[in-house]
Amino acid sequence: MQILWINKINHNENTAIARISAKDFFELCETAEIGQTKAAIAVDRDINASTKDMITFEEIVKYSQYTLKIALESELNRMGYKPQTKEGFIYAEGNLPVMLVAHLDTVHKDTVETICCSPDGNIVMSPQGIGGDDRAGVYMILRIIKKHRCHVLFCEDEEIGRLGARKFAESVIKPEINYIVELDRRGSNDAVFYDCDNSKFSEFFTRFRFKKEKRNASDIFIIAADLGVAAVNISAGFYNAHRKQEYVDLSVMEKNIECVSRFISISTKKIRIHSCCSTPE
Ligand SMILES: [Zn+2]
Repeated sequence: MQILWINKINHNENTAIARISAKDFFELCETAEIGQTKAAIAVDRDINASTKDMITFEEIVKYSQYTLKIALESELNRMGYKPQTKEGFIYAEGNLPVMLVAHLDTVHKDTVETICCSPDGNIVMSPQGIGGDDRAGVYMILRIIKKHRCHVLFCEDEEIGRLGARKFAESVIKPEINYIVELDRRGSNDAVFYDCDNSKFSEFFTRFRFKKEKRNASDIFIIAADLGVAAVNISAGFYNAHRKQEYVDLSVMEKNIECVSRFISISTKKIRIHSCCSTPE
């Protein structure tokens, strides 16, 4: 199946983003269970058009975890933050009391070499596995902090036991924040609280079109328990996570960048968790 994908792609010499015909993309979509409707409008859009002044999404999905960590450190410095790069994570203090969290690793072993883009420019995938989980979250955070100076935490090795989050919890860094927003959830409008919430907090998010979902632990499960503040994991627009057929809907990313930017602008008090979420094994 992967060889078929590569054969179908027309490589453009100037960019590794391959524009493929609608027919071929529909076939790819079917393989990846996307469904055809999402790729129905044929508009050629540069996926990096709105991000020329920062690391592009294309770069973010192509970097190894190691290279991405270095790139983010210099990006945060360039944005005027003073990032603290530690074993397992990068943390940067902000002045808006909300901490945004994403993880740097993906489950895919191969480096992304080719990116396939749907005819409408919204869906991107890669024969190597696009790694939207959680590179979509990393990208969204960089976009959000351009305007809203939140605290930022990028963790390493979430997929192999949330090792970076554990290192952060063990560190002396204890930011004064009101709540945590993680961008590491599949789909378009999920909000997962892992019991790290209270009724007012979850009600607040459901007003922003997010619906409460349940799922296993992620990084915030550890971090929220450590800091004693409420936390939510919001959809970052990736689908088919942990599979080669993973894809990212860029329009969902854009919508949720907007949405998160709106709700973090609303001032709140410190939101404590109703009952401390227990740290997982
Ligand atoms: Zn993830």
